[in-house]
Formats: sequence, C-alpha cells, structure tokens
Amino acid sequence: MGADKNSLQEFAKLSGKELIERSKKLSKQYRIGDGEKFRLKDYDPDDSPDFNKEDKPIVKEILQAGVKTLAAMQDVLYSDNKWSLLLIFQAMDAAGKDGAIKHVMSGVNPQGCQVTSFKVPSVEDLDHDFMWRCTKHLPERGRIGIFNRSYYEDVLVVRVHEQILRAQKIPKKFVTKDIWEERFQDIRHYEKYLNRNGTLVVKFFLNISKKEQKKRFLERIDTPEKNWKFSASDAKERTYWDDYMNAYEDMIINTSTEKSSWYAVPADNKPYARIVVASAIISALDSMELEYPKVGAEKIAELQATKETLLAE
Ligand code: ATP
Ligand code: MG
Repeated sequence: MGADKNSLQEFAKLSGKELIERSKKLSKQYRIGDGEKFRLKDYDPDDSPDFNKEDKPIVKEILQAGVKTLAAMQDVLYSDNKWSLLLIFQAMDAAGKDGAIKHVMSGVNPQGCQVTSFKVPSVEDLDHDFMWRCTKHLPERGRIGIFNRSYYEDVLVVRVHEQILRAQKIPKKFVTKDIWEERFQDIRHYEKYLNRNGTLVVKFFLNISKKEQKKRFLERIDTPEKNWKFSASDAKERTYWDDYMNAYEDMIINTSTEKSSWYAVPADNKPYARIVVASAIISALDSMELEYPKVGAEKIAELQATKETLLAE
C-alpha cells in the first residue's frame, strides 16, 4: 500500500476514461472486499504523500477533475433511473466526514443527491427496529444517498456503551452475547437485499489516528469559528478509543463483502482522504455500466417533426 507523489502529479492531468481507470487503481488499495482477513493495524491512517504548500494546487486539481467526472456519471445514473448509490460514512469525531461529503459532492446536481445525518435516536426511532430510521431515507432509483452515520452506530457506539443497548427496549431474550454477531448477519442480509434491488452500498471508514484527532480537537478549541464543532462529550468518547477501534475492526471483518465493500480511508491527511473517497465513488458508478437511455426510431422521428415545427414558427 502507499501513494507516491509523482503518480498524483500525473493523476491531475487525466480526464474521462483515463481518470476513471486511475481512480479505480487508487481506491482499490483501500477497498476491503471480503472482510475476513481485515486487520486495522495493516491500514495506516497517515498513508498519503506529504504534501508541501506548493503541492496544494495539484491536490485541488485532482479533486476538481474527480468531481467533474463524478457529476457527469451522476447525470447518467439519473437518466438511467435503475440503480441507486448509497454512500455510508462512519468515523471517530473530527475524522472529516462532513468535509469529505461537502467537497466530494460539490459538483453534483442537488436534485440527484440527498444527505441524511443520524444522531442519537429519537423516541419514535426507538419504538422500531434499528434499521427503520435509515430505511426511510434510502435513495430512490437514479439517485445518490449519503448517510452521515447510519445503522452501523448500532454495532459501534451501542457496543462500546452497552447501557445504550439496555435502553433499546428489545425483548430480554434477544439481548445475549450473540447480539453483535446477529446484527452483523442482519446487516449483511439487508445490504444483499438492497443490492439485489439495485442499490449499491459503499461504505467509508475514515481512519484517523488518535494523535491527529487530538490535534484537530485542540484546533477546534483554539479557533473561535470552530468552537461550535466541539463538545466535551467528543473528548469523553476519545477515552474509549481502543474499544472503538476493536468495534470498527470487528464490524469491517463481518460486514465487508465483495458487493457491499468497506473502504478504510487514510484520514490524517484531509485532501488525500477526499481524493480517495471521490475515486471510490467513481469506481462504484463505473461498476454499474451505466448508459443514457437509448431512444427508438419512433422517438427520433417525433423529435425531428417537433424540430421542423419549431423552425417553421
Ligand atoms: P459533528 O461531526 O458535527 O459533531 P456528529 O455526527 O458527530 O456531527 P453529533 O450530534 O455530535 O453529530 O453526534 C451524534 C451522536 O449520536 C454520536 O455521538 C453518535 O455516536 C450518536 N449516535 C448515532 N446513532 C446512535 C445510536 N443508534 N444510538 C446511540 N447513539 C447514536
Ligand atoms: Mg460530534
């Protein structure tokens, strides 16, 4: 694994088919596929080239090229109206979920895209199974749906703090030591079901290091414009770092499949993380083999007739 700077410089000059191929190559390094052999320690949060100040324009250019390609692909997805793409973002606080979503989706048509953030469940949410609140927000055909956190919280925060599980009102006989394995099984089946119905599920774990999180927390505390982003509870969750890492690793082992893959995105370098995310989305759309709907002879004749009428006005 590893990204080298020269190849990124060359990346910035690509477009069209070449850019798609390059994106597939880059994102593949971080794609888990079948999760069985996944070990978090094999994925370095800082696996990215060291960008100097003078490299900034290159990184920007790559992202811009990626965003342009993504927008063109989304247009075909929308017109084809069969597939939908669900992008799930999970990460520790300050890993850059919001920024990645904002930058990567900046060029796409807002009509074809919807973002949903899942916070602490409401009383109504808790009156249902844990998938329910997410199912309501699945993207329609032809659209891209983004989940900022998701049903995966139910095998992450809920696993790290088991008192949350106890408050979930599930019949007692179902709350056993097997519950996590059972939830993984339910999630695998759910995503398989979605895939068979034309929703491609792509999942991103923004892999930030504990050291980088500390740096970003301090930045949020020291910068008045960033104060609103910080809450003391974020620092409290940090004290459970190892438990979270174990939960993330087990989640990826059990829920990454060839058809609904996790990406372990190195997140210590924000611009690089965004390029990896954009590349993975491009790869996912490319795998759908999308085409603009073909217009039949009858429709072409109708278009010609209308054109003549308009020109004769
Ligand atoms: P920001 O990046 O702006 O802080 P955020 O996604 O962290 O956004 P917050 O309101 O700070 O939003 O946090 C949402 C909290 O809700 C997280 O701590 C998350 O773990 C928690 N949460 C999400 N889903 C569940 C769930 N099913 N059960 C319990 N807690 C949950
Ligand atoms: Mg938060």
